[in-house]
Amino acid sequence: MPEYRIHTYIAAEAGLLVNSFLVEAADGVVLVDANLLLSDVRALGARIAALHKPLLGVFVTHAHPDHFNGLPVLAGDDVPVYATADVADTIARIADAKRAQWQPVYGAEWPDQHRVPDRRLADGDIIELGGLRFTAHTVGAAESDADSYLTLGDAAFIGDLAFHGTHPYTADGHTGRWLTALDTLTGVLDGATTLYPGHGAPGDVSMLAEQRRYLMMYRETVRRLAAGAPVLTDVQRAELTTVMTRFLPDAPLTWMIGLGADAVAAELADEITGDAAAEAVAA
Ligand SMILES: [Zn+2]
Repeated sequence: MPEYRIHTYIAAEAGLLVNSFLVEAADGVVLVDANLLLSDVRALGARIAALHKPLLGVFVTHAHPDHFNGLPVLAGDDVPVYATADVADTIARIADAKRAQWQPVYGAEWPDQHRVPDRRLADGDIIELGGLRFTAHTVGAAESDADSYLTLGDAAFIGDLAFHGTHPYTADGHTGRWLTALDTLTGVLDGATTLYPGHGAPGDVSMLAEQRRYLMMYRETVRRLAAGAPVLTDVQRAELTTVMTRFLPDAPLTWMIGLGADAVAAELADEITGDAAAEAVAA
């Protein structure tokens, strides 16, 4: 019998199909990521209760609301909430602004409160819960302003470092650093590892290469359309959506394609300016 069992809670499409993972040990449950909308958060809470074991702790992989919104409901004030220090600091910085941006869209589904992870982790820190040894790994800015992943034996909870079979969120505009992180991670996580992504089904390390190809195509298409401008027109945004929908047919979350277009155009425009500045210094 394995020493733990992993249960996946998948949100409705309105909740971005975000995964929360329940790691069930002999004496308790560890939650990885706390979901987005209150209807899903409550259903996730019922799933935890149905395991009839205490919630020992929660990990938050990165600083996006679909991974931290459920914390006040699921963890209350008493269950320890773990995150790398930069993830915790970023949540503290952005949670109110995210609520101001999205509560008008999601209404009562968006929680009125947030909780900042208080058990702050450094790269390589080991956390023992329920007799299991988890290791935290910092990544820095990639899909969000602060990403990390968590390993447990040959399982890796990678947050949104790869979306598996859905269109990804690119609106934080760090796709260049995200590509670098994917390159590094591909070497670190070997073929024996099962990756548990924040959106989409678990799989092997090949999902990192798939994410990389998607981001390359996305960046090249934005680069061609924007031609150095920091924003796309509505027509260009529609063309980007057509191209990426063809690249990843039948995948959900297509509205994410347009959502991130300007952020990536601005990122690419900055790269051009940065390169020119570097050349000027070199000259
Ligand atoms: Zn997510």
